[in-house]
Amino acid sequence: MPDEIIDEGARAKKMADALKRGFKMLEDTCPRCGTPLFQKPNGEVVCVYCGIPIILVSSEEEAEEQKVRMRLIGIRDILSLKLEEMLRDFYPRESSVTMSASIREISEALLTVQKVIERLSRKKKEEKAYRH
Ligand SMILES: [Zn+2]
Repeated sequence: MPDEIIDEGARAKKMADALKRGFKMLEDTCPRCGTPLFQKPNGEVVCVYCGIPIILVSSEEEAEEQKVRMRLIGIRDILSLKLEEMLRDFYPRESSVTMSASIREISEALLTVQKVIERLSRKKKEEKAYRH
């Protein structure tokens, strides 16, 4: 799957840096580049090569759910950016107009996405509480 070219030199250097900083190397590898993942002292798991945080999950199902959630969060961010943009354009000449339909539609979509994300998060918490 890795479609980017790995700079082995940079990778080795970044891994060495991580070790020097007291990060712990894990058995899991980055889904994007295959570099071993590191756990920071604060518990966060990162790929030092991609420079992104990684969420470790225990089952296929959980991974799938996590993926959906991340995608939704991405959609939410795009929607809220778009909405912000539209509101910025809209407000200066707001005087007479009622809120445009598209602004309302985007707001509603945003709310829906937010609700789904919250539901997924809540479900996670409940599962955790149940497991303990
Ligand atoms: Zn990576």
